[in-house]
Amino acid sequence: MRIIFLGAPGSGKGTQATLLRDRLKLVHISTGELLRAARDAGTPLGLAAKAVMDRGELVSDDIMLGIIEERLSQPDVQAGIIFDGFPRTLVQADALEKLLEKLKMPLQAAILLDVAEPVLLERLAARAKKEGRTDDTPETIKHRLNVYHEKTEPVVGFYEKRGLVSKVEGVGGMEEIYARITKALGH
Ligand code: ADP
Repeated sequence: MRIIFLGAPGSGKGTQATLLRDRLKLVHISTGELLRAARDAGTPLGLAAKAVMDRGELVSDDIMLGIIEERLSQPDVQAGIIFDGFPRTLVQADALEKLLEKLKMPLQAAILLDVAEPVLLERLAARAKKEGRTDDTPETIKHRLNVYHEKTEPVVGFYEKRGLVSKVEGVGGMEEIYARITKALGH
């Protein structure tokens, strides 16, 4: 199975993708995590990405597509994939579609985690306290939400046109939301 998680920062994509990975034995591809790992390793790419992430901007499509192409060339992806945090722009969505077509691994579903803005703000503020992520400051959080509306929301329309989107209420207990997702996936 190959699925995409869509939703604003703080909508719970990472949490639910991790549960799906563990329980359905799929490969979890989080571009945010790949970028943070590159940053922590101090690679040139990671250091360039750090500045962009800390401003709450998106890393360039070229860089992201390079990262994804390289990740998809690893054999473990045959087990099935959960994309988390990618694609975030129409250019990325278009390129991913072509890449997956070439690999004969089309997507089966896109899960849109629906969470109202005040709840997102609360969650991100709480995460800032707990994890101390450098892109979770109040100004950056606001900017990331704006970037989401402007650049990533159109990606929802891209997958709606292909009949792939299931909108799932993203507020409630972790297991409750997980059950909604697996139901939407027909599991
Ligand atoms: P969140 O969804 O909570 O904002 P992520 O871990 O998914 O967090 O992403 C953190 C940051 O990494 C983003 O704000 C952005 O700078 C960068 N990033 C992650 N994925 C992408 C992507 N697909 N395209 C561009 N930038 C990305």
